[in-house]
Amino acid sequence: QWISKPVEELWDSLQKGKSQSLLKKHLTEATYKKLKDKKTTLGGTLAQCISSGALHEGSKVGIYACDPAAYSDPDWKELFNLIIQDYHTGNAAGTVKHPQPSFGTDAEIDSLGDLDPTGQFVVSTRVRVARSHAGMPFPPAAKKEDFEKMEKLGCEGLSTLTGELAGTYYPLRGMDKATQNKMIEDHFLFRADDSVLGDAGGYSCWDTGRGIFHNKDKTFLTWLNEEDHFRFISMQKGGNLGQIYKRLVSAIKHMETKMKFAKMDGLGYLTFCPTNLGTTLRASVHVRVPMLSKDPKVLKDICAKYNLQPRGVHGEHSDSKGGIYDISNRQRLGLTEFQAVTAMKNGVLEIIKEEAKLTWMPKPMPELWERISKSDSQSLMKKFLTPEVYAKLKDKKTSLNGTLAHCINSGCLHLGSKVGIYACDPDAYTTFEDVFNPVIKAYHKVDSINHPVPTFGTEAEMKALENIDPENKMVLSTRIRVARSHKKYPFPPACTSEDFENMEADSVAALSTLTGELAGNYYPLRTMDAKTMEQMIQDHFLFRNDDDVLGDAGGYKYWDIGRGIFHNKDKTFLTWVNEEDHLRLISMQKGGDLGTVYRRLVKAINELEKKLTFAKRDGYGYLTFCPSNLGTTLRASVHMAIPHVSKQPNFKEFCEKYSIQPRGIHGEHSESEGGVFDLSNKRRLGLTEYAAVREMLDGVLAIKKWEEEL
Ligand code: ADP
Ligand code: ADP
Ligand code: MG
Repeated sequence: QWISKPVEELWDSLQKGKSQSLLKKHLTEATYKKLKDKKTTLGGTLAQCISSGALHEGSKVGIYACDPAAYSDPDWKELFNLIIQDYHTGNAAGTVKHPQPSFGTDAEIDSLGDLDPTGQFVVSTRVRVARSHAGMPFPPAAKKEDFEKMEKLGCEGLSTLTGELAGTYYPLRGMDKATQNKMIEDHFLFRADDSVLGDAGGYSCWDTGRGIFHNKDKTFLTWLNEEDHFRFISMQKGGNLGQIYKRLVSAIKHMETKMKFAKMDGLGYLTFCPTNLGTTLRASVHVRVPMLSKDPKVLKDICAKYNLQPRGVHGEHSDSKGGIYDISNRQRLGLTEFQAVTAMKNGVLEIIKEEAKLTWMPKPMPELWERISKSDSQSLMKKFLTPEVYAKLKDKKTSLNGTLAHCINSGCLHLGSKVGIYACDPDAYTTFEDVFNPVIKAYHKVDSINHPVPTFGTEAEMKALENIDPENKMVLSTRIRVARSHKKYPFPPACTSEDFENMEADSVAALSTLTGELAGNYYPLRTMDAKTMEQMIQDHFLFRNDDDVLGDAGGYKYWDIGRGIFHNKDKTFLTWVNEEDHLRLISMQKGGDLGTVYRRLVKAINELEKKLTFAKRDGYGYLTFCPSNLGTTLRASVHMAIPHVSKQPNFKEFCEKYSIQPRGIHGEHSESEGGVFDLSNKRRLGLTEYAAVREMLDGVLAIKKWEEEL
């Protein structure tokens, strides 16, 4: 049994403290003197009402009702009315009268619909109302027998629910800690750790009479004797507000026929905390808005406009995590239940609209198809996505909800693309294989997709890789990279912001175990200053987000969340985290010592393979976002000065003959400068890693010889 401090002591600390609460504002000395030694008709005291507010200087309201009588007893109701009006209208002289309950017609309820059919933004939706037994005290004034009696009455009523609402009651007492914690983590169960509520007597006689009732799917739940006697809750994943609200309304209507709830004209349903009076309804979504949350002001403005309240994801007084906020209606008194839910709906729709502008989504499939089918694009995607194949694939989805639109968005917007298709997640290679397989075969020039197992070459073979330019005349630098994808995450277009954050954490944990020459530090993009960033880009160490082809493929979704670079002291071993691929492992240095660069990379690959599980598939090798990188995922390149060769009309043809791909020196889709080209192996699938490096070596030596001749 909880017992408040003496009322004099509470009054004293309220006077001396810096509280700005409504309690302090409206509890005058005269009122205090009038009430301090009185009891309500249900036996509650002033000390019980003001305890929490006097002990927590930060409280905004500061008063709780000790029992329903506090709202109606002649001596008490004045104080409560001032605070209720001030809280709900911003004016203590306000005269808001709560209307009769009104949940909306069936048609209105259905019209609430789904707030987020894409599933990208709304994680889950929940609507709750509070109810109190008529004539029973609230927790601070309740005795052990009261809690037991309320639990019994509650369970009797709940046991008459049928159909979807039927469920089982689980008392808190006897529930093992693991089950409790799991239910709390999953947002189903309450906990007793809010000291504001605790000091209001909310946890008196804990855990007597406390428990949770829920149906099989945990879509309808009832909390018994948490803050209020009852909290009826309807919730589920996703944004189907119509369905969730409808379920709650049918539960409320049924329970009303089984018991009498405390209710008052003008105040609606009575609750322990005066902020919940009226509808007692809180409709909330957990909405994923990582981009908006970078600048909380925008989100705050929308919330103010629609009178919504943002909370953290673990309930009131908790923090937001991973850019997910709990957004709910703030107003509960002076409007109908249906109006309260509608306010939340409208505000959340606007929040989603604003977030959508800042994140990436593919254009609608029909629009993309219209563009590509009417174009003269020469891409491999266009070639193999025939009308028949399109018809077969257009409505399919991968196991991670990826669509064909996610994969071909970039190729349809950039008609000059050579490949034109990206995999939105590893499963896309299977779901959309009718288009991917022919593209892969054509790009990598193989008859069948039959990639060998990874083979990096023996010590002796590695030693045989020569220095391309021992005289240091033509080769400026040499670089080899491989891509790796975490098995358990999708590729960028299908990633949530938490995916990027979790991948970053997993990657950095593994990278930080590297030792010796490979040991280094991780630098997140978010905290890197602009000057350092620009210098690293100039020096060819760091990536940037300025390639529209990649951007329109969703490669920069939620930029720069989860992005960064790891490198050793000399920047000879580097790892890009969440650029195009989850990981790009890079070994590079000045000059043409290919053997040293390759050995360093192989060592890093072998070390990381021990720590992480990468996406891989028989025949396809390592899986990557872009199908051109499948297989070895290896690109070995030199920056080489070839001012004469590059002007020859048959330069491209010569490169093609050796399967060499020439690029500009600032990466793919960039221009060359001063006759210096990036020359690398084009083929990555159907040959071993060692063979790919050799192929580059042979081709580059041939080009070098040609340059020397001219
Ligand atoms: P209330 O007091 O209004 O019931 P709290 O803020 O105390 O709400 O939160 C109670 C629990 O409900 C917390 O675990 C919270 O994470 C969970 N919750 C609230 N809204 C949602 C939602 N839309 N989806 C999932 N869980 C939610
Ligand atoms: P990839 O995507 O295959 O890693 P990009 O063509 O996008 O390669 O280039 C990425 C970065 O690596 C660019 O800054 C590019 O200049 C740099 N780079 C590529 N090859 C070399 C090389 N041999 N020497 C120095 N920098 C290189
Ligand atoms: Mg690139």
